Amino acid sequence: MVGAALACLVWAEPAQAQACPLDGSPLTAPARPPWNAGAGVDSDGCVWSLDPTGARRVVGLDVVECGSCRGVFDPAELGAGAEPVDVERARAVLRALSDGKGGARRGEDGALELLERAAALARALAPRDPAREGMLLLRAAWAARARAVLGGDDGGYRPRSIGEARALLAKAEGRAARGGDDDPALELIASMERGVEAARRDLEAVEVLGAPGPDGVGLRWDLAQARARLVGVERDLAALRRRISPPTALPAVGLELVLARAWARFGDPAARDRWLLAAGVRHGARVAAEVERIRDACAVERDLLARARPLLEAAGQAARGEDRARLLLLAGDAARRTGDATAARPLLEAAAAADPTSPWAGRARLLLEP
Ligand SMILES: [Zn+2]
Repeated sequence: MVGAALACLVWAEPAQAQACPLDGSPLTAPARPPWNAGAGVDSDGCVWSLDPTGARRVVGLDVVECGSCRGVFDPAELGAGAEPVDVERARAVLRALSDGKGGARRGEDGALELLERAAALARALAPRDPAREGMLLLRAAWAARARAVLGGDDGGYRPRSIGEARALLAKAEGRAARGGDDDPALELIASMERGVEAARRDLEAVEVLGAPGPDGVGLRWDLAQARARLVGVERDLAALRRRISPPTALPAVGLELVLARAWARFGDPAARDRWLLAAGVRHGARVAAEVERIRDACAVERDLLARARPLLEAAGQAARGEDRARLLLLAGDAARRTGDATAARPLLEAAAAADPTSPWAGRARLLLEP
């Protein structure tokens, strides 16, 4: 019994006695992905964790849904200290949401749909707190980004900062510009494959001269030499291939899509679309479905960021100090990520000026760099 209880303490979710603020039903917090930043952090704070199998997950998408009234809440805002709730108003919002067209369209992605519903509820319950709705919409945008990026190779794009993200992207772009196989080991393999081809041609050239006759001693010697050369080169090539670990080689159709996914995370829609186009042009039908899937998810992300941005901006303009820097940075980054550099600049400048020594201001300055 003691062992079982201890196992529960270690493995179970912490049992927080939380109740639905609308009808008092007990709420069960969803399982959270591991809290680490093993797969990097995006400029707007979207954290990508690695689970024990090495799979990537986006952190911060968890909200809690009430099984009886379908209300959706941020676990951080429940319990002690929560503001009183206008129950009638909330119930009307939930009825309108379940009647309306929204929600079902994106139902295949649970987190995204739930976060959007939580945002709608926050707007109804706390209309004077735009940051709450804005942050929920931003997290819904992260769910859409995850949909665009997960399910494909990340090519080692796991940045811990904006500077590191730029360095990783420059490296991948350079590799793409050189045709995708500038890895020294891959270069060596390519040159040895050329050697095998040359040795095969030598052998064929000797063989087509015909079977050596009684006077063909020199020809037999040439043939033996050519065969020995081919066998030797092929043996070295096989040994080299065994020594090289798979991660040094990108999949044949992967580099353009790796770059498109990385630019989607960095937040440059023009670069992302350039590589999606390149993938389609170069690999055609083999990547068409994946290109379409990424485009669709990015369109959903763009729509959510466009809705989050004015809310974060309004909240930032009303805030002071570090909060002001954080909210204006997020508003400016949302504008940048939707391709609106003109709107992004003054917001990022205001974030950098609001609290110059804060990490938010540092991020804003980095995003302002060309
Ligand atoms: Zn409820």
